[in-house]
Amino acid sequence: MYQDIILDHYRKPHNRAGELEGEDAHVHHSNPLCGDEMDLRIRVDGDRLDAVVFDGDGCSISQASASAMTQAVGGRDLDDVLDLSEQFRLMMHGEEPPRIDELEDGIAFQGVAKFPVRVKCALLGWMAVKDAIETYRSGDAAHAVTHE
Ligand code: ZN
Repeated sequence: MYQDIILDHYRKPHNRAGELEGEDAHVHHSNPLCGDEMDLRIRVDGDRLDAVVFDGDGCSISQASASAMTQAVGGRDLDDVLDLSEQFRLMMHGEEPPRIDELEDGIAFQGVAKFPVRVKCALLGWMAVKDAIETYRSGDAAHAVTHE
């Protein structure tokens, strides 16, 4: 069943776009181990994540996880998004974080924690949205980060 959720997000990604009207921050993340590339853009309204879109190339796990992430975090307060990103990271390290249910379809990637080589793929979108919020708060219009 979880496999179906992942495939569904891969085949019909949500919030996949190469541009975002009124974007407040744009980050580029890559995962050289697998060859995943991702551009992620956010628009902020007050303290709320008004919109988040991603665009990229890479394995099914990285792209599907980013799609699920955008659905889980869109419209939430920025601090809440950062906390959920941390919950997802803990889940990818084999833990059962308290807000795991709020990861929505992100929970489908729990099994990926058993495959260390794929963990960075699943984390890519979640780390990108965290970085985008920190970039927004730091006042940088755009910057690039490579996760190794
Ligand atoms: Zn990958």
